Amino acid sequence: MSLAELIPQQLQANIDKIIEDVEPNPWLTDAEKDSYSEKIKTLLKEKNAVLIAHYYVDDELQALAENTGGYVSDSLDMANFGARNEAETLVVCGVRFMGETAKILSPEKTVIMPTLEAECSLDLGCPIDEFSQFCDQYPDREVVVYANTSVEVKARADWIVTSSNAIQIIDSLMAQGKKIVWGPDRHLGQYIKNKTNADMILWQGNCVVHDEFKLFELEQLMAKYPQAAVLVHPESPEAVIAKADFVGSTKQIIAAGKASEADTLIIATDHGLFYKMSQEVPNKRLIPAPTGGKSATCKSCAHCPWMAMNTLVNLYETLRDMTNTIEVDEDLRQRALLPLNRMLDFSYQQGILTAGDA
Ligand code: SF4
Repeated sequence: MSLAELIPQQLQANIDKIIEDVEPNPWLTDAEKDSYSEKIKTLLKEKNAVLIAHYYVDDELQALAENTGGYVSDSLDMANFGARNEAETLVVCGVRFMGETAKILSPEKTVIMPTLEAECSLDLGCPIDEFSQFCDQYPDREVVVYANTSVEVKARADWIVTSSNAIQIIDSLMAQGKKIVWGPDRHLGQYIKNKTNADMILWQGNCVVHDEFKLFELEQLMAKYPQAAVLVHPESPEAVIAKADFVGSTKQIIAAGKASEADTLIIATDHGLFYKMSQEVPNKRLIPAPTGGKSATCKSCAHCPWMAMNTLVNLYETLRDMTNTIEVDEDLRQRALLPLNRMLDFSYQQGILTAGDA
């Protein structure tokens, strides 16, 4: 068994244990939610702070970001928005690598998060020492990593990509005759490899949410709703991707849902996306792709356990006390900044990002 297969398997048991240990969120009445939201709005003004939320966090947090001049989007847009916004403090509601990315791009700003315990199975499943050793076996290849990685892994990379720009970046590297070492998501890596025919060696990490979408139950759902369009995030298994009418990042899935003529959408990604999707297509029926059923049971049930750790309560406490600050070693930051800027420059040149996105 290769290093790329062995390490993620060993880490999977640890990741499963971490998920089991995640505490359930405090239950709040509507009045309590309103009260926390009002206090957070006041603190955002007082501290000259802006809220940047990922599509997968709870609806209340997305609504707060929207209603306070903040931003809700995917990881690429979040980083871009933070770097261009004038607020002194960036409050990132998401998982740790998103806070780190914000700090890499905006070292002069204070970056805080509602919790520092919100991880990502892709980041956890790709430790720097093992990944670096893996890359060292292929010194003639470009190291391309997904944004869902630690600052150390980013610093080891030649290129960073997100699911919004991965195909274009790999296409461009292929045109230069480059071969690739890819990490950490095996499904996204395989999807890119199939689409581009690039020569890629894949690390075998996975996302605990998308890995659980099930082909058998999806086929049953498609038979029940034959007119539905199937929209799939590329961190999903290859067999599920093969059933998709559209494959893309969260932001691209929303755009595809809007553009689709179908009145029913089956969506294979974290159900946090349904908040924004239902705003964009209020008259369409949205159905989550199945993660459990006769063929299996689910662990995450299409909602990231770490994204769910961001709450109104810990957001309020973090802002009030200005705790949970993201710090990044300056040498590491400088090294991670190179591939990150390479990605942003490429995305602007190709029109994947525009100044209007920020
Ligand atoms: S949904 Fe998956 S990729 Fe996104 S943060 Fe959670 S574990 Fe990581």
